[in-house]
Amino acid sequence: MEPGCIFCQIIRKERLAEFIFEDESLVVFKDAHPHAPVHLLIVPKKHIRSINDLTDEDRDILSGMIFRAREVARQVGVSASGYKLVFNVERGAGQVIFHLHLHLIGGFAS
Ligand code: 5GP
Ligand code: ZN
Repeated sequence: MEPGCIFCQIIRKERLAEFIFEDESLVVFKDAHPHAPVHLLIVPKKHIRSINDLTDEDRDILSGMIFRAREVARQVGVSASGYKLVFNVERGAGQVIFHLHLHLIGGFAS
């Protein structure tokens, strides 16, 4: 938990977000400024700054995020049509929230 972190605040329900899924290790909620009809964020409950900051003990967290993304993609109906999974790593790549998250973006016109 990082007091000034927006995603830690969402995880603790101190800040509103539209949740799609929650379990003991991660949450999935809608991006506030979607770039496509479906734009979800898969966010571990553990505060980790970015992919650069992962440690060996975070392997299960990372694989859990990717498997959960696959399940949620099915749930919201974009599995067959297609979706992107994106990690922005640090400022030069466009990361603005420094709490690890995986973007699930889909629902494009085909
Ligand atoms: P980044 O650029 O750091 O990879 O992505 C951060 C994402 O978080 C952006 O797509 C942005 O729209 C989203 N975001 C920022 N603040 C909030 C918020 O308070 N609530 C929600 N649901 N999404 C947010
Ligand atoms: Zn955080």
